[in-house]
Amino acid sequence: MSTDDRKELKKKIHENIAKFEVEIVKLEDATKPIAPENSLGRVSRMDAINNKGVAEASLRSARKRLVKLKMALEKIDDPDFGKCSNCNNAIQAGRLMFMPESSNCVRCAR
Ligand SMILES: [Zn+2]
Repeated sequence: MSTDDRKELKKKIHENIAKFEVEIVKLEDATKPIAPENSLGRVSRMDAINNKGVAEASLRSARKRLVKLKMALEKIDDPDFGKCSNCNNAIQAGRLMFMPESSNCVRCAR
């Protein structure tokens, strides 16, 4: 991976981390305990419970990605960064730009 690619990718990871941090705050807000039935009405409370479930799943995956992104940022200056952990070939730059936390190349990820 060239120095320029690395620089570009680092910027991308920082952007992604910032994005996920905002997203996580929003999702944490959406997963707060739901108000009692009498204050919402039964139907909207059911909606609220459904939405909360969706938000909880998104929150879990956003947190996982954030951890991975931070790990990628720590490893980005390693000479081995960007190599597939399975076949040791370079991971395609496009894939890293899209998912900087990937540790497998497209072929092995399939
Ligand atoms: Zn591979």
